[in-house]
Amino acid sequence: MVKKREKRQQLQCVQARPPACPKCGCTDRTKKTSIVTREINGVTVEGQKFTKVQWNYANCKNCNQRYKFMEYLYPVSRTGEKG
Ligand SMILES: [Zn+2]
Repeated sequence: MVKKREKRQQLQCVQARPPACPKCGCTDRTKKTSIVTREINGVTVEGQKFTKVQWNYANCKNCNQRYKFMEYLYPVSRTGEKG
């Protein structure tokens, strides 16, 4: 038996760009499809660190417009860890 020891990094989105539908401004998205994820380290204009950038496609819940957006991801810090 080989145990899979895969480190699952939980990521949270610190910023999305554009943050809303370019057509109607609705932030509710549906059918998100990830295209590519790149390991890019940086800081958003709000000062949020990110370690990954993901390109996605999604449909707007309001007007059903399909559009591309980027998500800046940062691993969720574990509980008990303070920095
Ligand atoms: Zn829309």
